[in-house]
Amino acid sequence: MYMKSVRKKRLFGTNGIRGIPNADLSPVFAMEIGQSICSYFTVERIAIARDTRVTGSMIESAVASGIMSTGSSVIDLGILPTPALQYYCRTHGIYGVMITASHNPPQFNGIKCIDRDGTELSVDDEIGVEDIYYEKKAALSEWRTCGALKHDNTAADSYIEGILKKVDSASISKAAFRVAFDAGNGASYQTTPALLTALNIRLVSLNCNADGLFTSRESEPKPENLSSLIGLVKSGNFDLGIAHDGDADRAVFIDEKGEFIDGDKTLSLIVKYTAKRGDVVVTPISSSDCISDVCKEIGATLVRTKVGAPIVSRKMIEIKAKIGGEENGGVIYSGHQFCRDGAMTAALVLQLMALTKKSISDLIGELPKYSLTKRAVQISKPWSELLKSLETEFSGKEIDRMDGIKINEGSNWVLIRPSGTEPIVRLYAQGRDEKESSRLADLYQSKLEKIMK
Ligand code: MG
Repeated sequence: MYMKSVRKKRLFGTNGIRGIPNADLSPVFAMEIGQSICSYFTVERIAIARDTRVTGSMIESAVASGIMSTGSSVIDLGILPTPALQYYCRTHGIYGVMITASHNPPQFNGIKCIDRDGTELSVDDEIGVEDIYYEKKAALSEWRTCGALKHDNTAADSYIEGILKKVDSASISKAAFRVAFDAGNGASYQTTPALLTALNIRLVSLNCNADGLFTSRESEPKPENLSSLIGLVKSGNFDLGIAHDGDADRAVFIDEKGEFIDGDKTLSLIVKYTAKRGDVVVTPISSSDCISDVCKEIGATLVRTKVGAPIVSRKMIEIKAKIGGEENGGVIYSGHQFCRDGAMTAALVLQLMALTKKSISDLIGELPKYSLTKRAVQISKPWSELLKSLETEFSGKEIDRMDGIKINEGSNWVLIRPSGTEPIVRLYAQGRDEKESSRLADLYQSKLEKIMK
């Protein structure tokens, strides 16, 4: 029987290839990945876009060069949010490559492949690209048939129009909300302000310049990085604060009092007001039970998956789900496209505020009360060894092994799973309030540390 040689290290992680340019992500490597992508797909053209990172043009040019050397043309869309490239790929039926490291610090960059349906590439296809790279089987074209570099500057406008068509723009416009928006110097610096302006939002923008060093704030939209936005919302008369990560596939919100809203609450709220009885909702096992309770309340079916946005997207397509998403602010709305989309998420939240005529804090206050504490714990042993010890330690408890190990603690739970990219485990603890979730997180973190000793 034919057996593949022992697999080389996977290049594509949960969210594409990531690294520090010129350290572990060289232009030569990026060029060879471009060649491998096109040798695998053999298509006439591929779209490419990038976020605002300093090394974006360098890595993009290298990938584009590799693509053209195999005979495919490259359509350069410029700086765009990842979901805007995904929208372009689906509406044009072509593959795409996004140069981004999402929420990572500015020194990082990455390469992510987009399928023709706008979803992230399947693992099988990624492995197909990796095989060509490792086996050096890229099919170079003869000089006269090398691809060309073309530009298309229509992607941002059609992406915004696409979102406007999917929400009740008239009701949102009538509400004339006051919104503070923080792009964090990332890829959404033009698109989200344009969308909000089209929705008649009274807008105050923060960090809406393309600064690839992310000098204003770190790219991950977590409370400690959003102090300027939170301060602005507290000081002014705003209805909502909105922030994205670097490539704007995620959106997080600040209520009118300046309180940060957890991502699983946003997802639950969107499900509550957008899904109907009989609809299917998909979320990973790391989201709190707030979403389970809301689905029960409205008569929707909830399906849980392993952690990872591409896994949620593909499951949604497979079972024809309406809404999906993660606890980190990544919401997938099938009426628009099967991928996380920060601007679409913002439009959906504004829509439900307009239709219910309630403040965002009141809407959040009506949701079931849960708190999720998240930790990253350094590990000194391989995950497989750690997992065995954890299984022995918790053998008396109810355990779910879908992804890592999820241990039931009465009506609450703790999830421990390895990171795909770093020597850490991620620990999620759910409680009814913050005190309870941090107590559980402390307890399990110390158990972990004891096992490692
Ligand atoms: Mg992102």
